Formats: sequence, structure tokens, C-alpha cells
Amino acid sequence: MKKLLSLIIVVLLFVNFKTLQKEEVELVLDSKSELGEGAIWNYKTGELLWVDITRKILNIYDPKLNINKEIQIGQMIGTVVPAESEKVIAALENGFYQLDLETGEKKFIANPEENIEGNRFNDGKCDPAGRFWAGTMSMKGEKHAGALYRLDPDGSVHKMIDSVTTSNGIAWSLDATKMYYIDTPTQKVTAWDYDNETGEISNPRTAVEIPRSLGAPDGMTIDAEGNLWIALWGGSAVSCWNPENGELLRTIKVPAKNVTSCAFGDDDLGTLYITTAGSGTNREDLEKFPQAGGLFKTTPGPKGMKAFFFKGEF
Ligand code: CA
Repeated sequence: MKKLLSLIIVVLLFVNFKTLQKEEVELVLDSKSELGEGAIWNYKTGELLWVDITRKILNIYDPKLNINKEIQIGQMIGTVVPAESEKVIAALENGFYQLDLETGEKKFIANPEENIEGNRFNDGKCDPAGRFWAGTMSMKGEKHAGALYRLDPDGSVHKMIDSVTTSNGIAWSLDATKMYYIDTPTQKVTAWDYDNETGEISNPRTAVEIPRSLGAPDGMTIDAEGNLWIALWGGSAVSCWNPENGELLRTIKVPAKNVTSCAFGDDDLGTLYITTAGSGTNREDLEKFPQAGGLFKTTPGPKGMKAFFFKGEF
């Protein structure tokens, strides 16, 4: 009897553990986004900000009301971050802008690539000191034509990494001493020493190498254990890596071929929201993944970190 009881307890614990670590990926919105991207959780408003780059849409998703609001921006929108001013800062096709989501006002801040034709801004995030880092890429597939920039709260823009091809995921270590960065075609996460006082970076080295067979590394976020969650373009998955030793810890399948970004959200920061792209999906893939381009979610177990807000106002 005693044995049976302990067996039941073990089974119950296992079931409970399995429920906590739900690996199923659930469709949140069948948005059919062309290039869903840039997921970031605004913990102050309880909303997920995300974009459809090529359709020029800023999305604001409220999971409590299950409502997604679309704002047409009029230019390609690479990514968006919340600001402490309650406005948001976006990296658009033609530079950095401040957007007031209440009034719809769009204020130009700066365009470091004013004289470069054919590039647009892509992914980016704020560092722990509230500076906004975002990079560019060629829209014609030109190699090494982009760069990573840093927009400071005073409005000054600094070129931080040159000769980038597809500037993508970026995150900072929990102790704010390292910056992790993805230039997609390198198939790597590069770690940089990061000075939180000055915003300077130095000493790049490879932290993670992503085998081509898994897909190409796209958007990235860090969890409360310091591990990196990376969306895999062409890989139908999000993956979790230990940046200290480069080890692959987890892969979670997503029902879309091109998985583009992920962000922890909801009140407990325990839900991983995942954006995908419908573009780059051929007919055969679309039959396999009819929800490609949708917004998905899963509950992987670890919690996320609160996103850093931009510290300036224009
Ligand atoms: Ca991306």
C-alpha cells in the first residue's frame, strides 16, 4: 500500500512537472504576417509589442483582452522598444523615430544612413542603461552593407559595429557586463565585453555556433537563468543555448518554417511569445504549416527578464 502511494505521488509530481513545462506551442493570432518580428513585452502596460516589417505594421497585443491592435506606420518597421516616456522608439526604414501610440504622432530622431541607398533598419533592443541598439541590412541582399548603431537618450547616434550583413538578435548578460549579438549569416552569437557606464563594447568572441542544419539565428532574448533563446529562420523552432559554453539546451518546434523572434511575457514573464514569417515559405511548406506568419506562445519553464526601456524623450 505504501509503495503504491509513493508511486502515485511520483506519477502526480511528474504530471505536474510536465504541465509546468508545457512544450506545446499554441497559436495566439492567425495574423498571416509577411514578416512578423521584433517581439518585446511591455511589463508596464501588460502588452506585447511586435511588428510586421514588410507590411509596415506595429502590433500591440493585449493577452488579457485577447485584442491585437495594428498601426500602419507608412515605412518598413524593423523593431520597436517601449520608452520610459510611455511613448515607443522604433527603427524604421529611414531611421530612428519616436511614436506616440495615443496621438499617432511620429517624430523623426535621426538617420545614420541618410546617404546609404537600399538599406533598412532591422532588429534591436535597449541596453540596461536605456540606450537603444538597432542595426541595418541591405534590402538587395548585399553582404556587409549594414551596421549596428546605438541611439543614446540625448539623441546622439553612434556606429558600434561596421560591416554587418543582417543585424539581428541582441541581448545583455544579467550582470550587464556582456552583450550578445547575432549577424545572421555568421551562424553565431558573438559575445562582447560591455561597459554599462559608457555603452562601449570590446573584445568580440564566439559564444554560440548554430549549425546550419538547425536554421539561421534570428531574434534573441535572455531568460532569468542567463540562457539565450534564439528564433531559427528556416528551422521551424526556437532554441535555448548556454552562452557560457555554447551548449544547446532545448529546441522547441514551432509550426512555421521561418521563426523570427521571441520574448517572454505575461505577468509572470513565463510565456514565451514567438513571431513567425509567412514570406520565404513555398507552397509545400504552407501546406505543412498553414499558420505560418502567426503569433505563437509556449510555456517553457524558465522565466524571462523585464525588457529595458529607452531612457530619453524627444
Ligand atoms: Ca529578425
